[in-house]
Amino acid sequence: REEVFKVHSKNKPLGEDVDLKVLARRTPGFTPADIENMMNEAALLTARRNGTIIHMDDLEEAITRVIAGPQKRSRVMSDKERKLTAVHEGGHAIVARAIPGADPVHQVTIMPRGRAGGFTMQLPEEDRFYDTKKDMETELMVLLGGRVAEEICLEDISTGASNDIEQATRIARLMVCELGMSDLGPIQYERNTGSVFLGRDYTQNQQNYSLATAEKIDDEVRKIIEEAHKIARKVIDDNKEDVTLIAETLLKHEQITAEEIDYLMKNRHLKRDEVEESVSEVKEEAPKAEETK
Ligand code: ZN
Repeated sequence: REEVFKVHSKNKPLGEDVDLKVLARRTPGFTPADIENMMNEAALLTARRNGTIIHMDDLEEAITRVIAGPQKRSRVMSDKERKLTAVHEGGHAIVARAIPGADPVHQVTIMPRGRAGGFTMQLPEEDRFYDTKKDMETELMVLLGGRVAEEICLEDISTGASNDIEQATRIARLMVCELGMSDLGPIQYERNTGSVFLGRDYTQNQQNYSLATAEKIDDEVRKIIEEAHKIARKVIDDNKEDVTLIAETLLKHEQITAEEIDYLMKNRHLKRDEVEESVSEVKEEAPKAEETK
């Protein structure tokens, strides 16, 4: 990846703070096309802020854009929705931090991006060519962490978790039907012959099982989801105050990084709040480049 970065940064003025090695490490799973796309985004962002040199901040934002889509500043959320999003993302972040082996949290935000009202970005520590059963179970727990935080901290649940639930169900079904990772044993019941159409995954499954087996499959899928849900609930129950703290911090700052969460968990406030308090009471942030879409 570092080599691909070199190729695509040839005609681009990079700042002294840019380290291609760091970028290569920050973008596991990125294809050369993703990297090209990302470098062009970064150049665009730089031009939009009337800059001539691409800095690390521009590249970071470009990475996030490739993963999660552009910011949607035009989409205004009500206070209630913001709170719900903050608690939901706090749930993902806390579960991801608590479960050993989960991909580290890189950034949490309640700024709407793409189709999402907010998101918790995890970055794997290294490229992975295979997922183990444990990896997949962990992913399920983190996916359900958002919904569980809503259940526990807000005592109500929302449609905000629909994408998580869709993904979790897909993973659990994959484990049972295609990967032989359930009590039904190493048998492939379905084969995914999916085709990508209009960016969405319209999958056609070849089903090789009886009605009786279909019921067993449903039971196994349910068992896997219920187990992940149970563990996510335990984590959130045990760390309710941390979820609330992250949610409150997100409501104030919209976006926090992994380092900031570490600091927050230790000191119960952010470092930038210390500075802000001592410098001035009211500080208006300069508007950044806006996304008009
Ligand atoms: Zn979510």
